[in-house]
Amino acid sequence: MAKRYLIETFGCQMNFHDSERMAGLLEAAGYEPALEPADADVVVLNTCTVREKADDKVLSRIGEIRSEAGPGGQAPLIAVAGCLAQQDGAAMFRRARGVDVVVGTMAERRLPLLVDEALRTRSRQIDINPYDDVSFPLGMARRMDPVKAYVTIIEGCNDYCAFCVVPHTRGHERMRPKGEILEEVQEAVQSGRTEIHLLGQIVNHYQAPDDPGCDFADLLAAVDAIPGIRRVRFASPHPRHVTARLIDAMRELPHVCKHLHLPVQSGSTRVLSAMRRRHTRDEYLELVRAVKAGVAGIQLSTDMIVGFPGEADEDFADTLSLVEAVGFHSMFSFKYSERPGTLAAKRLPDDVPEGEKDRRLAALQDLQKGIQTRLHEEAVGSTVEVLIDSVSRRRETELSGRTTGNTVVNFPGNQRELGSFAMVEIERAGAHSLWGRPRSLTAPRPGPTL
Ligand code: SF4
Repeated sequence: MAKRYLIETFGCQMNFHDSERMAGLLEAAGYEPALEPADADVVVLNTCTVREKADDKVLSRIGEIRSEAGPGGQAPLIAVAGCLAQQDGAAMFRRARGVDVVVGTMAERRLPLLVDEALRTRSRQIDINPYDDVSFPLGMARRMDPVKAYVTIIEGCNDYCAFCVVPHTRGHERMRPKGEILEEVQEAVQSGRTEIHLLGQIVNHYQAPDDPGCDFADLLAAVDAIPGIRRVRFASPHPRHVTARLIDAMRELPHVCKHLHLPVQSGSTRVLSAMRRRHTRDEYLELVRAVKAGVAGIQLSTDMIVGFPGEADEDFADTLSLVEAVGFHSMFSFKYSERPGTLAAKRLPDDVPEGEKDRRLAALQDLQKGIQTRLHEEAVGSTVEVLIDSVSRRRETELSGRTTGNTVVNFPGNQRELGSFAMVEIERAGAHSLWGRPRSLTAPRPGPTL
């Protein structure tokens, strides 16, 4: 009987796609997917360590999986993969009892071998070596999303922002060959996934190793021209690398979505400098003006940290005023937490009291909620095009999709319509999404088998 695996993913889109590759690797080695940990021979926890809370969640999940086996039940083997595995290495075995395999971010291809060996010998296995290979053969990923396809274009990062653990856990920046990226996009589109997400830590820093002079704007143009493609998105760009050519490409290329996630992290130049973000508040605001002038109707989103070491009341006031000035359509906001090995953890005391961080986070989120609600209310009465990408978990007759600007729209429909485009008349707005009534549908392309 085939052995069975289950993967649980923590963190971002990149981790989601890494899990798709791990699933593909395990299935190529003869494993079959399980629905519950109790039915699995191995549970892989693909972890994130960007924030302290993410670490804690993984540790408590390991305990739950162990206890779910129950008395007399055969507990599945537990493999910890991803950023936490890379960061902790062998210490992971001591931090969480019951971990059998530790596989680092750059060693994912070794996962099936390590799991086989651990199952065969009932001994612990580890590989956190920094393998450099970013060539992913076609078909390596088992795609889990019926509508969207994630395609890696860059791995790692060389920027070493003071708060960020990514360069430590995902290694130095490596560019994937353009030829390979285009082949993977073609294959994804042929499988019926018409929304492509290009992924990289600084996605707009791309330079093709196999096509000198080809930058991210050129890559976008090449992806946009692939027959059958309906939408192109990308994450995450760095403000420093948003060029005039990229703004032109976002305006001109018909399939590139009119949404730009532009992480700023703080509205204070003083804090931005301590964070080593390498741009000022004014430069960021100037870039926002150029993007809005260059791409009509573009929607912006961002990441924000409150309570970074040394952040004074005036710095936080600058963050609030920047948020007001830009009018982001959405925001991921967090309290600063020290991450092991980062410059901030080594050199800057975590000196903003926890209660003050809570207060600032609540004030920022309140402000953002008001801005989102106002922007969403402006959409009431208009008709927008959405790609239907999910069915409500509570009601099968409620669908949701996203506009080109990345706003979530909910409306009644049938789950057979997943993957179609719908024109939806907006009737109601909330802080996080819109509600409306579909006016017309375009048929989905032949769907993939999941
Ligand atoms: S650019 Fe992004 S991934 Fe790289 S160090 Fe800074 S925050 Fe982390």
